Amino acid sequence: MPANFKAELVACFGQPVAENPTGVIQEAAFAALGLNWRYLTVEVPPAKLRDAVIGARAFGLRGFNCTIPHKVAVMEYLDEIAPDAAVIGAVNTVRRDSERLIGENTDGKGFLRGVRVDAGVDPKGRRAVVLGAGGAARAIVTELALAGTADVLVVNRSCERGERMVADLVAKTGATIRFEQWQGTYRVPGDVDLLVNATSIGLYPDVNAMPPVDLSGARPGMLVSDAVFNPPETRLLTAARERGLTVLDGLSMLVYQGVIGFQLWTGQDPPVAVMKEALRKALLS
Ligand code: NDP
Repeated sequence: MPANFKAELVACFGQPVAENPTGVIQEAAFAALGLNWRYLTVEVPPAKLRDAVIGARAFGLRGFNCTIPHKVAVMEYLDEIAPDAAVIGAVNTVRRDSERLIGENTDGKGFLRGVRVDAGVDPKGRRAVVLGAGGAARAIVTELALAGTADVLVVNRSCERGERMVADLVAKTGATIRFEQWQGTYRVPGDVDLLVNATSIGLYPDVNAMPPVDLSGARPGMLVSDAVFNPPETRLLTAARERGLTVLDGLSMLVYQGVIGFQLWTGQDPPVAVMKEALRKALLS
C-alpha cells in the first residue's frame, strides 16, 4: 500500500477556546481506533468566522465544532441545518456531506444519550424540571420535548428570557413545556422524575455555589443531572447524593456530544470509555 501522510482534519472554532476540552476527547478516540485524524482547537474571532468557514471548505475539513460565540452566527454560512438544530436555533457541530456543510446540534442529544445510557432513564412520558433558559437549557429542553417527555417545566431567574424561550419551543415542538420564574428557593415537587441544572451556577471558579433548590420533597428515584462539568462533582450533585437520589454529572453530556460528533464525522462508533477517561484526566491535570 502506498504511504499516506495526509491526515483528515476536524476542528473547533471559538473565542475563547483554549480551555475547551473536546479535542482531548476526540484525539483519544482517533488514537484508540488508529485513525489518522486530527482535531484542531482554533481561536476564531467573530469578525473572522466567515473566513474560517471558507477556510474549512478550502482545507476539506471533515467537519468542525462551534463554541462561544459562534453557535448562532455560523448558521448563515452553512448549506443546511438539521431539524432539531433549527428548533434550538444554534449549531455546535458541522458535518460535511461531499461539498455541503450541514449544521447539527449535539449538546441536547449528548445530554439525552447520557440520561439514557449512563443513568438508564428514558425521559419519554416522564416529568422534568430544567433550571435555566440559556443556550444549554434550550438544547436540553428541545431534545427532552422531541423525546416525548410528558411535561417540561423551565425555571429561570429572568422571566423575560424564560418566557420567550418556552413560548418559542412550544410553538416549534407542540410539546407541554411550562415556565415558572425562579424566586427564592425552588422546592422540587414530589412528582418530578428528572431535575436538570442548565444554569452556570457552580461552574469553576465559583465551585461552592449551589442552585437555590430544596430537594427535601423529591421522590426517591428522581434523577439529578448537572450540565456543569467543571468541577464534575458540583455541590448540587453532592446534595442530591446525600439524599440518596441518582445523579448524572456534566462530563456525561460533554462526552456524548463528542461521541455523536465523532459518529457524524467518521461514520464509526468511538470507544466511549476511552473518551471519558481522557476527559477526566485532562480536567484533573
Ligand atoms: P448561558 O449564559 O446561555 O445561560 C446561563 C443560565 O444560567 C441562564 O439561564 C441564567 O439565568 C442562569 N444563571 C446564571 N447565574 C445565575 C444565578 N446566579 N442565579 C440564577 N440563574 C443564574 O450559559 P449556557 O447555557 O451556555 O451554559 C450553562 C451551563 O451549561 C454552563 O455551566 C456551561 O458550562 C454548561 N454547559 C455544559 C455542556 C456540557 O456538555 N456538559 C454544554 C454546554 C454548556 P438568567 O437568564 O436569569 O440570566
